[in-house]
Amino acid sequence: MSGASAQPITLLSALREMRALYMRGLRFEPELEARFNQASAPGRMLHMQITAATALLLFNLFLVSDWYMIPDAFMLSVKLRLFTLTPLVLALVIFGFVVRDWWLSHTPPWLTDVIAMVGTMLVAGCLGVVLMASNSPQVSIYRAGLIPVLIFGNLVQRLRFPRALAVSAFILGLFIYTTVARQGECRPYAIIEAPMGLLIIVVTLYTLISNFNLELDERQRFLQNERGQSLRSELEQMKRGLEDLSNLDPLTGLPNRRCFDGYLKELSSQDGATTAGQGMALLLIDVDHFKAFNDRYGHPAGDQCLRQVARAMRSRLGEGRGLLARWGGEEFVVVLPGATPQAAMAVAEDLRQAVAALAMRHEASTTSEHVSISVGVADPSQAGADERPLVDRLVSRADEALYRAKQDGRNRCVLAGVA
Ligand code: GH3
Ligand code: MG
Ligand code: MG
Repeated sequence: MSGASAQPITLLSALREMRALYMRGLRFEPELEARFNQASAPGRMLHMQITAATALLLFNLFLVSDWYMIPDAFMLSVKLRLFTLTPLVLALVIFGFVVRDWWLSHTPPWLTDVIAMVGTMLVAGCLGVVLMASNSPQVSIYRAGLIPVLIFGNLVQRLRFPRALAVSAFILGLFIYTTVARQGECRPYAIIEAPMGLLIIVVTLYTLISNFNLELDERQRFLQNERGQSLRSELEQMKRGLEDLSNLDPLTGLPNRRCFDGYLKELSSQDGATTAGQGMALLLIDVDHFKAFNDRYGHPAGDQCLRQVARAMRSRLGEGRGLLARWGGEEFVVVLPGATPQAAMAVAEDLRQAVAALAMRHEASTTSEHVSISVGVADPSQAGADERPLVDRLVSRADEALYRAKQDGRNRCVLAGVA
C-alpha cells in the first residue's frame, strides 16, 4: 500500500480536494482570468438585471400563498416583499441601467456578482423572518418557499460558484434554523419536515453541480473563442508572410516581376490617366558585361554584385518616388508615375551614378574598370498607339532605348525616341 493511499480521508482533506478541483476547472491563470471576467461582465450584468426584475414580479405573486398559508403574518410579508425588497431591488436594477458604462469600467466584475448574491440572500432572509413570525400550522409546508430562491441564485442568476456556494449554505442554514427554532410548538405538519430537509439538501446539491457545470461550459467556450482568435491572427500573419515571399525577389529583396505587375494594375485602377497614356515613365536597367563579371569572379560574387547594385539603386530612389523591381537576370525595372521624360532621365542618371559610386571592380569589363549599368527610358509620349497594352508598348520602347545605350558604349542612359 502506498503512503498516499494510507492517509485517512478527513472532512478537511475532502474539502481540500474539492477546492483543487474547483481551481483546476473554474480558474484560469491570472491574466486570462481577468480577460474572461472583463469579457463576460457586460452580458452578466444585463442578465442579472433582467432576471432580478422578472423574479421580483414572481416574488410578489407569492403574496397569494402568504394570504392562504400564513394569514397571521400576511401584513408583515406585504411590508417586506412589496414595500422593502421591491423598491430596493428596483432601485438597484434601474441604477444599474443608468450608470451601466461607468459601472462596467470602474468596478471589478465580482462586485455585480456579490450584489446579486446579497439580493438573493435578502429574499431568503425575508422568508426566514416571515417563517419565524407566523404561528400558522402551515409553516412547515411554507418553508418549501426557500427552494425557488435556491434555484434562482444557483441556476437563474448563475452566480459564480463560490457565491452560489455561499447562497446555498445561507439558505440551508436558514432552513435548519427556522425548523429547529420552532421545535416544541404546535406543528401539525411536522411530519413533513424531515423529507422537506432531504428535498432541500438534494436540490442544493443538484443546483450546485449544475451551477459548476454551467460555469465550466462558459469558461470552455471562452477558451475556444480565444484559441480561435489567436489561430485566426496567426493565419493572417502567415498569409501576409506568404504574400511578402511571393512578391519579393529572394536574391535582392526587391519586389519581383509579379509584384511589379500588381503595382501597375493598382496604378491603372487608381488613375485612369495612366491607362489613358499620360504621366508614367518606365526605366529598363541592365548591368553591363555581367556574364564576364560572373566568368571572372564566380557566380556567388555575381550574386553579391547584384545585391549591392539593387541596394544602391533602392536607397537612391528612396521612398514614394516609384517602384524598383527585379525584372529578371541582371535586369531591373523602375516605374515612375507622373514623371515627365526629363524627370525620368534625371532619375535614370541618378541611379547610374549610384551604381558607379559603388566602385565595384570589374576587370573584365571593356566599358569601365567598375561595375556599370545602362538604362533605357520610355514615357507614354513615345509609346506609340498599337493594340497592345500601354505597359507592353512602354517596355518595348524602353528595351529599344536600352539596346541603343548598349550600342552607344554602355554605362549611359538613353531616352526612347531621341536620336
Ligand atoms: P551586356 O552588357 O550586353 O548586358 O552583357 P551581359 O554579359 O551583361 O549580358 P548577357 O545577357 O550576355 O549575360 C547576362 C548574365 O547574367 C548571364 C547570366 O549568367 C547572368 N545572370 C543572370 N541572373 C543571374 C543571377 O541571379 N546571378 C548571377 N550571378 N548571374 C546571373
Ligand atoms: Mg541582360
Ligand atoms: Mg547585361
